[in-house]
Amino acid sequence: MSMVTTTRISNCAVLTLDHAPVNGLGLALRIALTEAFEAACADAEISAIVLTGAGRMFSAGADITEFGTPKSMTAPSLPDIINIIERAEKPVVAAVHGNALGGGLELALGCAYRVVAKGTNLGLPEVSLGIIPGAGGTQRLPRVIGAAPALDMIVTGKPIKAEKGLALGLVDELAEGDLVAAAVEFCGRLPAGEAALRPTRARGDKMSEARGNESLFADYRKSMARRARGLEAPYAAVECVEASLGEDFDAGLSFERETFKKLVVSTQSEALRHAFFVERASTKIDGLAKDTAKQDIRRAAVIGCGTMGGGIAMNFANAGIPVTVLEAEDSALQKGLDIIRGNYAASVAKGRIAQDKMDGCMALIQGVTDYAELGEPDMVIEAIFEKMAVKKEVFAKLDAVCPPDTILATNTSTLDVNEIAAATSRPEKVIGTHFFSPANIMRLQENVRGAKTSDETIASTMALAKKLGKVGVLVGVCDGFVGNRMLYAYSRQANFLLEEGALPQQIDKAIFDFGFPMGPFAMGDLAGLDVGWLVRQARAATRPSNLRYSPIADRICEMGRYGQKTSAGWYNYEKGSRVPIPDAEIEKLIIGVSDELGYQRRSIDEAEIVQRCMYPLINEGAKILSEGIAQRPGDIDTVWIYGYGFPRQRGGPMFYADTVGLKEVYDVMSALYDQHGEWLKPAPLLAELAAAGKGFGDM
Ligand code: NAD
Repeated sequence: MSMVTTTRISNCAVLTLDHAPVNGLGLALRIALTEAFEAACADAEISAIVLTGAGRMFSAGADITEFGTPKSMTAPSLPDIINIIERAEKPVVAAVHGNALGGGLELALGCAYRVVAKGTNLGLPEVSLGIIPGAGGTQRLPRVIGAAPALDMIVTGKPIKAEKGLALGLVDELAEGDLVAAAVEFCGRLPAGEAALRPTRARGDKMSEARGNESLFADYRKSMARRARGLEAPYAAVECVEASLGEDFDAGLSFERETFKKLVVSTQSEALRHAFFVERASTKIDGLAKDTAKQDIRRAAVIGCGTMGGGIAMNFANAGIPVTVLEAEDSALQKGLDIIRGNYAASVAKGRIAQDKMDGCMALIQGVTDYAELGEPDMVIEAIFEKMAVKKEVFAKLDAVCPPDTILATNTSTLDVNEIAAATSRPEKVIGTHFFSPANIMRLQENVRGAKTSDETIASTMALAKKLGKVGVLVGVCDGFVGNRMLYAYSRQANFLLEEGALPQQIDKAIFDFGFPMGPFAMGDLAGLDVGWLVRQARAATRPSNLRYSPIADRICEMGRYGQKTSAGWYNYEKGSRVPIPDAEIEKLIIGVSDELGYQRRSIDEAEIVQRCMYPLINEGAKILSEGIAQRPGDIDTVWIYGYGFPRQRGGPMFYADTVGLKEVYDVMSALYDQHGEWLKPAPLLAELAAAGKGFGDM
């Protein structure tokens, strides 16, 4: 069957894109569409053409698996088809429902009119993949809605609803009920002859305002500086929209095409596409049958309503799942609930959510202090202090009071999930759900499978992540799991760099410039330095004496400086401010430690800082892969992008390593190992891949 079907309704040809699941505009569909369109144009009985989509939507755009391959350039290309449609001598009306995104919206923009079902999403999200709309979107959208709103849509990549599209002029008519019938009826109301054609390229009415506004683009570039830091595509998009102001439409189109071609082969776009694909792939669990039964989580409970427990409870409420939170003491419970209420109220005050949404969420959260009041939850997430003995006690209690089917999860960030599971009679129902702080905002949910965790528990917990709007990644048990274990390797080196000559602000700047939202010291201050200090104290007795250890962080904690919460940590903070201010006292302390340990301080540049922090992180990732703690390199990338703010445009640490070249990473690690010893020993997998001239992506 053809991917485009033609039917005739009165004197309209209705061309329906029919290529499940999203009417992706791959080569086969493009060929079918061109043929059907030309046939409709040649048919003397047809006076207007309606273009629509079968299934759930009009079209989600180009087939991104074709990007950068010869197929994407093979004629008819999407720009070719859109040009043919725009030059047709019969009026063409797009009948749009569901989504018209990327190439899908560009196709609709090539049509003279758009009749759109209510609630439809219209957008040009290309920048999120490191490219720009390359089939005329940057030239036609400004002609239809004006340059300023077009900039917003193209540079942010955020779709708008049909209703807003109507106000902007992107939508000519909103439809309810039978969309195709509405479009055919719309055709019937068009004037006769040429007056109905209205090719987008010839429209200029919306352009005059921007042509007279000299500072529009300069101002826009300034306003996007923070959001688009380190990104190429959003700036390229601005340039293209700016080019659309010229009188020569075809010159604008060629400029857009050239820009698109450059971006589509850029490392940044490759990295962003990688990030997109590996995030989707992370839901696939090796060895888990597709039809594994899943427990539906309809009621939940959270033990501990502190920093993490409160945020986790909010996640459930936000997803409409009733949740009971338990604290041992009523005062702690009230404090926790007040913080939750305060968080919602702040969102209401900022206009992010409506008051009734807040009320609805608060009504779903019930606080208790007695295990007997937990009810019959399908899942319990424990988020109490990081102490094994207390966690085991809590799990034994939960095991005794919860129905036998209840999944018992722990939010521990360092403890052995197997040991916790052994405190229950249902280790197959025990799993780690490692949320990140603030838990109601950070998207990562690192799910930790224990040795005995059942497939059903894993499948249910991965499905829960999706329900909560999180990105679930499954990992295995080890110290720190995937994320924090790699973080230790990175922050350890950052601390050593202090002893060797760098200062916190220098390292933080290098890591910020690399693309992270903040460097390791600013992040430590934000998270609270006492947390790591307690862990280090607990482990002091078992610390191998032959391994280098930096005492600086401990000394800072001994001074009572725990970070932002005490207005002092690695930096100073003015009351109520989160802006780190370098402190001469800390500099003195660091230089003192260098002297004490016999390090001759030297100047260390940004490139060295990045290598010294990132390569050990990658090296640890290689060990994690060999041990099977992560299923695939892409899962590690997803963990780091969503849990730690690793710059997405670099694709995650393992992808980044491949772009550097594993031989280079290995050579630098080997040299560092010779110089600094054991912590920096290259992982066998890194050595192996580097010697074979391969990357993590080849695994
Ligand atoms: P927190 O100190 O803010 O909160 C712990 C809460 O648990 C407190 O409100 C306390 O009153 C309550 N509690 C303690 N013992 C209890 C018991 N027996 N029964 C009921 N309630 C009890 O700690 P947090 O930062 O929310 O950390 C909780 C867990 O999450 C820890 O395992 C921690 O390692 C993990 N975690 C923390 C972070 C983070 O950034 N804070 C990130 C990821 C994971």
